[in-house]
Amino acid sequence: MDQPLLISALLTHAERHHGDQQIVSRRVEGDVHRCTFRELGARARRMANALDAHGIDMGDRIATLAWNGYRHMELYYAVSGSGAVLHTLNPRLHPDQVAWIVNHAEDRILFFDLSFLPLVEAIVDRVPTVKAFVAMTDRAHMPATSKIRGLLCYEELVEDHSSEFHWPRFDEQRASSLCYTSGTTGNPKGALYSHRSTMLHTYAAALPDALNCSAADVILPVVPMFHVNAWGLPYVACMVGAKLVFPGPWLDGKSLHELIESEGVTLSAGVPTVWQGLLAHAESQGQGFKSMRRTIIGGSACPPAMTRSFQEQYGVHVLHAWGMTEMSPLGTVCALKPAQLALGDEARLAIQAKQGRAVFGVDMKIVDAEGKELPHDGAAAGELMVCGPWIIGSYFKGDGGNPLVDGWFPTGDVATIDAEGFMQITDRSKDVIKSGGEWIGSIDLENIAMAHPAVAMAACIAARHAKWGERPLLVVALKPGKSATRSELLGFYEGRIAKWWTPDDVVFVDSIPLGATGKMLKNRLRDLFQDHLLAVA
Ligand code: ADP
Repeated sequence: MDQPLLISALLTHAERHHGDQQIVSRRVEGDVHRCTFRELGARARRMANALDAHGIDMGDRIATLAWNGYRHMELYYAVSGSGAVLHTLNPRLHPDQVAWIVNHAEDRILFFDLSFLPLVEAIVDRVPTVKAFVAMTDRAHMPATSKIRGLLCYEELVEDHSSEFHWPRFDEQRASSLCYTSGTTGNPKGALYSHRSTMLHTYAAALPDALNCSAADVILPVVPMFHVNAWGLPYVACMVGAKLVFPGPWLDGKSLHELIESEGVTLSAGVPTVWQGLLAHAESQGQGFKSMRRTIIGGSACPPAMTRSFQEQYGVHVLHAWGMTEMSPLGTVCALKPAQLALGDEARLAIQAKQGRAVFGVDMKIVDAEGKELPHDGAAAGELMVCGPWIIGSYFKGDGGNPLVDGWFPTGDVATIDAEGFMQITDRSKDVIKSGGEWIGSIDLENIAMAHPAVAMAACIAARHAKWGERPLLVVALKPGKSATRSELLGFYEGRIAKWWTPDDVVFVDSIPLGATGKMLKNRLRDLFQDHLLAVA
């Protein structure tokens, strides 16, 4: 009972009890690679010896710039298992921001996939703490670069070191991994996870009414391993012994569909924007899914139109989930209760638009502007506060101030909670539209627009208004070859929402800008269009 909860135990368990289970990865090099949990274990131990040989100590940060793949998975275990801290960098950020984050984290080694060579070359002279750069490939594919001195080869590090290594035993409160928030405003802030928080999160995530994973599953995490540990799936897969399928850099609808079908994927996980590509591909090719039974959708609100397509057209059940970088990330999952399962399709779909109920370990409440707790009646909306053993108490190095309020972490999301405990996000507090002192939730308005057959993507933003202060403005990107007029789209809201919530106008754009984690960049849209209503008035 005194044994600490350590991430290395997951790997040891997977090796012993699911040694033949497979990890399939589409590689940057272009081919498909297969290995087993047994091989993963041996290679992670070799890498742990390599880290030792490079003088890496407990607590040192080791950075990765990598897609989802088996080498990244080896680093997940080799780095954390040996007591160092795996720092996953988001390669979609601007090089200046990546350099800033590496310096803040004081990373010692930087491992990178070949796709990110230009990014590494752009920052190499600005990251003095990094003592070694490692290209995650074999000797034959090593890039020719004069900019990175002494570039090391991943496969050589693995080959040159023994697979004899005993995972050290240490305090479970030690740090295991580090992920920075995207920092749409201000500097990014580091969320540091511990072995204990990660292990508890893993137990909870695997549960039937959470992500519901078992040894019978074939899991495709499309959600990146570079952002909040791919929602914990690389840990869950080892805990339950599930086959893992990694897409590498190939995230378009066609590539994903091929992989899902050829590997017999049963469960996938990703943000709505990725699934849009997959659904568009499946629809255009008249293809379905042979084996996929469930998909976890989170990171931003899953539009009910998407849930409907997956479930009614393809027989793939949607699990809507919500979380944050600061929460490791899992907070809620929309797993229906028995009485809800017995409801008709439309009533169930309406519940599935909610982000769901708290997984055990996460406590939630909603509060008003004075911090007074609001009722769980499905109507009162307030700021969502959370606490639990995998939610941060402070940011890395204490930078970013003390985030907690009376021990609760303020999420910055505005939400309702109903009597069954189902939470629904109406907005991020900074995206809320304040019309004449009343709040209008932009997510509801976006969900309605997304149900229109011509709409590919929709964002609703607060535009300045002479009389009401702010009014909703709908920004729409249409599907290729489809058309819809302003009045058609505004007419689509009739009967679906209170009249005064209807957007005042529609702006058509070629595409909606997306951030580094696939979310709509509403602040950029606000910069562009916040004066639109004043201009047309
Ligand atoms: P960042 O974009 O700052 O990196 P995270 O990846 O941590 O942030 O995202 C956390 C935020 O994403 C949440 O606070 C919430 O606003 C939003 N989010 C995540 N999942 C959902 C969801 N299912 N529905 C609506 N919003 C979501």
